[in-house]
Amino acid sequence: MAGHHGPGPTGRAVAAVVLAVSVAAGGGDAPTRAGDGCALGRGALTVDDLPAGSSVLDCAAVGRLVTHEGAGVTVPEPGTKVTVDALSVDGSRHGFTVEVAADGRISYGRADAGSEEHTHAAAPAAAARPACADSAYAVGEHKEYGTYDWWLGDGPLPGDLSPAAARRAFESAIGTIIGTRNDCGYGDAVGARAKYHTLTHREANVDSRAHCTRRDGVSVWDAGDLSGGVVATTCSWSRPVAGGRDWLKEADVRFNTGDYTFTDNPTDRCANAYDIRSVATHEAGHVFGLGHVGSGHEGQTMFTNSFACSTAARTLGRGDVLGLRRIY
Ligand SMILES: [Zn+2]
Repeated sequence: MAGHHGPGPTGRAVAAVVLAVSVAAGGGDAPTRAGDGCALGRGALTVDDLPAGSSVLDCAAVGRLVTHEGAGVTVPEPGTKVTVDALSVDGSRHGFTVEVAADGRISYGRADAGSEEHTHAAAPAAAARPACADSAYAVGEHKEYGTYDWWLGDGPLPGDLSPAAARRAFESAIGTIIGTRNDCGYGDAVGARAKYHTLTHREANVDSRAHCTRRDGVSVWDAGDLSGGVVATTCSWSRPVAGGRDWLKEADVRFNTGDYTFTDNPTDRCANAYDIRSVATHEAGHVFGLGHVGSGHEGQTMFTNSFACSTAARTLGRGDVLGLRRIY
């Protein structure tokens, strides 16, 4: 499955990939009419049930779950885009984006393939390049224009950290993104800021299958059970900006403490625990608009897989930095 994330040809810039055949794209068929063809069944919908171009208003689909290849998001209000990014142990999870235009028409994208991926190095993908020798990055469609306000869930936290320790770990990780911390000699490129608020009873709007639920307007970092194979998940909601990147409105992060062990301090005896700050830095990358890079780019924080006991992703690679520079 990791092959889906291959680096591709040099300088590739892929336009948004539409997953489902749009009812409007065929040309010959009559478009979906209001009230017709919208007898949606119960339970989760697929992109086939609600094809691109359908009106979520006519179909009463706002608040319904739409899934694709294991990823899923709850259909947001018109004028909103939602993206799920899962950090997996084997690279098998892809990002998935659902956008509802202001007029209610829905469209889909796969966050990984739909984002721009630039691979300036011409070397084959057989081996990972050192972090500072790899220029590959992928960017999503949103950015933080101002300050990312975030809260910490008051339930269990990864590594059984205290709230104070978890706050420090997450603040450090977020700080790595907004401070562009790297060992490659690049200065800070990100103008966005972040502000921690308080512990909250609210939870990340992510369910136990790593699907994005309805957003509550509060960006929460917490822990819970997610689908096996998923180490952590970020759900991001944004709104379009004329002539610019989408404006981030909320981004929630959940660590999968149901299936995995985490530590804030991997030691020589670490066997299968994931480094909290490495995972958190990767997730913060999604929060601020970075996408995944795949096979051959293992040295980048935004590589699609997570490695147990490694702290390497705490610091950005060259591609991570170039991606941030592209956005900010
Ligand atoms: Zn990820």
